[in-house]
Amino acid sequence: MLFPEVQIAPPGPKAQAIIAKDRKYASPSYIKEYPLVVERGEGPWVYDVDGNRFLDFMAGIAVASTGHAHPHVVQAIKEAAERFLHICGTDFYYDSFARLCERLAGYLPEMGPKKVFLTNSGTEAVEGALKLARHHTRRQYVVAFKGGFHGRTYGAISLNSSKVAQRAFFGPLLPGVIHIPYANPYRPLEGVGAGDEAGNPARLLETEYFVNHVDPREVAAVFVEPILGEGGYVVPPAGFLEELRRICDRHGILLVFDEVQSGIGRTGTMFAAEHFGVMPDILLSAKGIASGMPLGAIVAREAVMTWPRGSHGSTYGGNPVCCAAALATLDVVEGLLGQVQRTGAYLQAGLRALQARHPVIGDVRGVGLMVGAEFVVPGTLEPAGAYVGELEQLAFQRGLLLLSCGKSTIRFAPPLVVTEHEVDVMLGILGQCLADLDEKHHPEQAA
Ligand code: PMP
Repeated sequence: MLFPEVQIAPPGPKAQAIIAKDRKYASPSYIKEYPLVVERGEGPWVYDVDGNRFLDFMAGIAVASTGHAHPHVVQAIKEAAERFLHICGTDFYYDSFARLCERLAGYLPEMGPKKVFLTNSGTEAVEGALKLARHHTRRQYVVAFKGGFHGRTYGAISLNSSKVAQRAFFGPLLPGVIHIPYANPYRPLEGVGAGDEAGNPARLLETEYFVNHVDPREVAAVFVEPILGEGGYVVPPAGFLEELRRICDRHGILLVFDEVQSGIGRTGTMFAAEHFGVMPDILLSAKGIASGMPLGAIVAREAVMTWPRGSHGSTYGGNPVCCAAALATLDVVEGLLGQVQRTGAYLQAGLRALQARHPVIGDVRGVGLMVGAEFVVPGTLEPAGAYVGELEQLAFQRGLLLLSCGKSTIRFAPPLVVTEHEVDVMLGILGQCLADLDEKHHPEQAA
């Protein structure tokens, strides 16, 4: 076998029984694309109930930051669970809650003094930030981005625009959300006029939206992902976030960075904001923060975290077991940042080498281990969505877990502990899959 590291066979009877039960009783709002029944994981490896071994380059949607079952995180969870499982951090004090708030408030010193509100998920952090921004500014409108994704609760789906299915049939949504284009260097805007507006749609806020759609004095906040996640792993050009910051400052609007996907070491710095040198007023975190335990955070400048007394709380947010997992996760991630930069660069170089052989890969982009490869009809910008679906399935059959985003982008978001050797294994499997698809679609050209 070319890659002895992975090892797969069709689901056995145990796996089939679990799949059948899940299909019978679990809500079918999503189709589980792979017949993978997980038994355990270790680092970037996942084992199913039949003993098959998969290489995980999606990390449970960019969540398993420290890898599966990292011993330091598992130990912290065990110790916390033995002490107490719950007491409610909104009503009582405990050490891990206070320490986690302190720890999160210490990142991004350029933001100045901060306060932290702990949630159970990314979408709850988004909801809280919406409430906070409206209350703090006493304004009602918010700006969000086309292609953006912020979660699945009502406020969040009102900000979303990346997936129609997540908004359709659920209306009416939250009023007062203005969606403007995101800056995408691979697909600069057409027809918005000359010069840098095409590359920097942030300027459209003042030239178009604040003229024709909403008075900036009524805008509470701009919600933006510093790197677009579900919308296709798009890294905006220099100047985009700076311009948003300038516009927000000019009009007294809060700048909110949704770093639920891009934060906690994913890009080789603790938060993606550091790459752009632009600081938000409110920073949202979740996903990788506790290695998969449910936790999220709203980190706001102290002057902005101005809840009226008793106005916002959470029964489970900042649960002691999750806080312990988060503190241990941060210990591990802080030690991985340099490695993430190196393996990320190595991964991108490998993908570019594949791109040179396979013109179906239109673009390779990313920062750290938040890397995307966009697939297009060769020679055009037309998304090759069906091809990506085939590629994901082929990769799975060869023991590689991948997850697409946007219209036709494969995201590479492995656990941050992934090594160059494991990147090589991934690239090898991917290369085989691409060659198979070349052969299938263009047998006349295949070598
Ligand atoms: N914001 C961003 C940028 C996300 O990528 C996601 C999840 N994909 C969310 C918010 C929602 O997070 P959760 O699923 O934890 O509610």
